[in-house]
Amino acid sequence: MLDIDKINYMMLEFTSACNARCPACARTHHFVNSGITPHGSRQLTLEHMQNLFGVKWPNLTKINIDGNYGDSMYHPQSLEMLEYITQTQDASKIKLYIDSNGGYKTPEFWKDLGTLMKKFHETSCITFGIDGIDPEMHQRYRVRVDLNKVFENATAFINNGGNAEWKWIGFDYNDHQLEDAKRMSKEMGFSAFIYKNTRVRHSIIKEAIGLQDSYKGVTVTSKNVNSTISKDIVEQAKKELASVKDFANESTIRCRFRREKNYGFQVEHSGRIYQCCHLPGYYNYQIPGSAIYKEYEYYINKYTSNWNSLDEHNILDILNHRYFQRDLTESFNNRTDASENPRISRCISKCGSIDA
Ligand code: SF4
Ligand code: SF4
Repeated sequence: MLDIDKINYMMLEFTSACNARCPACARTHHFVNSGITPHGSRQLTLEHMQNLFGVKWPNLTKINIDGNYGDSMYHPQSLEMLEYITQTQDASKIKLYIDSNGGYKTPEFWKDLGTLMKKFHETSCITFGIDGIDPEMHQRYRVRVDLNKVFENATAFINNGGNAEWKWIGFDYNDHQLEDAKRMSKEMGFSAFIYKNTRVRHSIIKEAIGLQDSYKGVTVTSKNVNSTISKDIVEQAKKELASVKDFANESTIRCRFRREKNYGFQVEHSGRIYQCCHLPGYYNYQIPGSAIYKEYEYYINKYTSNWNSLDEHNILDILNHRYFQRDLTESFNNRTDASENPRISRCISKCGSIDA
């Protein structure tokens, strides 16, 4: 069961809109390349926020402003949404982490965001995704994002006392700029430089358990197995896969959104509540009948279509729904071919592992 009293974490996705077109991003892949229009609301509303934060969350200590389809600060009322949290919760206890490409709106907006973030826990920060030190390199992945604008906005935020991190997605093609990027991040006042490999472990396990690669055509930019970090991840994943006959059913699923430090849920831009960001982004814009849709079809068909929508239900009623209280929890320990609450492939590939 999901213990509502234990909730200390939320991930909020304010919008499905973004100025960028990163090739491996789900929004680019599903909306732009496939022409699928998001159904329902494309962004959270203040009413959604009132539903969500009309409740006092006494143990809430961490909020991630992040998601699958959009860059949340791009939402036209993003500052008001954050302000509402400060009015209803004990914001000084909440570590607010925002992920952004940073390449939109004005320096004044980012300065104001810095001021607002001071109401949250002192370790709160924005992580700017910057994958190159010149506009051309940066745009190889961050398509349409003007690097000069990112630097201008990040500088306005940092100069106003904001805590900013630089996140670098490592690709083969930008490795040679890595050291210069680290140096620049210090000179510009970023508090940390984070090197990130994307989806390496997930891709290997998906392949091993026979799942289709949904990012076909963009694998060059979504996987990088050349760095030391990637090699370690690849080695570990292969070791685990080789140690069992049936990883899909023999692995242990440890839900990342039910761990002591991150115990909570995700709110999608549509105003729907999910256990985590791995489920909605994958399934809710898939075409019925497609391979990916089939993985989750059982759970789509099991309930009414709006059972998890903040438009129709109170947040506590949603979290008390049998999906959170029983079905999903049971699925973690069931087999993939169970007739009731089968193990979900996405949970296997994202959170499954073999104990050493
Ligand atoms: S900046 Fe983020 S939301 Fe926007 S296209 Fe890139 S990965 Fe997707
Ligand atoms: S993929 Fe499944 S197991 Fe992993 S965090 Fe999401 S709900 Fe939990």
